[in-house]
Amino acid sequence: MTSIAKSAAAVRRQARAATSPAELNEAIEECRACPRLVAWREDVAVVKRAAYADDTYWGAPVPSFGADRPSILIIGLAPGAHGANRTGRMFTGDRSGDWLFGSLHRVGLASSPGSVSREDGQRLATSRITAAVHCAPPDNKPTTKERDTCAPWLDRELELVQPELRVVVALGGFAWAAALTALAARGWTIPKPRPRFGHGAQVELDWMDSRGIILLGCYHPSQQNTFTGRLTESMLDAVFTDARHLAVGDHAPNVHQPRPSSIPE
Ligand code: SF4
Repeated sequence: MTSIAKSAAAVRRQARAATSPAELNEAIEECRACPRLVAWREDVAVVKRAAYADDTYWGAPVPSFGADRPSILIIGLAPGAHGANRTGRMFTGDRSGDWLFGSLHRVGLASSPGSVSREDGQRLATSRITAAVHCAPPDNKPTTKERDTCAPWLDRELELVQPELRVVVALGGFAWAAALTALAARGWTIPKPRPRFGHGAQVELDWMDSRGIILLGCYHPSQQNTFTGRLTESMLDAVFTDARHLAVGDHAPNVHQPRPSSIPE
């Protein structure tokens, strides 16, 4: 697949045409459908942060990372400007990634606790990390139009990884909403009223006659959440321990019910 998606219609077309997660990633990496995000990601890659002045930034859409046939799909919001937009791998090269990969390693889902570059040897055997939006947005805030333009990549990814998929972990309220929309588009039955995001929220979803999947909510490991103590390491580990148990059909000893007032991200 060599053509470059430059419009929402082209994103839909190319996403549908991808026949494997690898092919989908190739198409994502070339995408230029959101003018504001294309300009931002490339500008950040030139201006750089002083601490990374000697680095060559990725400056392009960040592909998904991990197993091609995952039992756990982790969905984030979007690449960080000086993290994934610099290194080219989801949650790699910033504090959010340190928290996420540290937790995945502690619960046995990642081969090592660090995530610093695409060449660091990190492996996810049974899980995969993607995002609702694949380009770094200013202030970590994609517009509604940008979210919707990028959505077909996630829709198709869910379709391609569905055979082994058991658990979807949404990091934050934005990813939670994107996950529900993508799952509904794939034909999963979403409870009414729509389940609200919360840390530890758990929703079972059915798909026709097939085995269901479980959607788990988790606060995003953003600095805003980790610095303030809203999200602690033990809270993060509890969600991924649950995900791991649920992925193999065990009971999930740490699953919590959503708090009465769910707090986005
Ligand atoms: S955000 Fe998604 S749709 Fe928009 S340019 Fe990036 S990869 Fe393409």
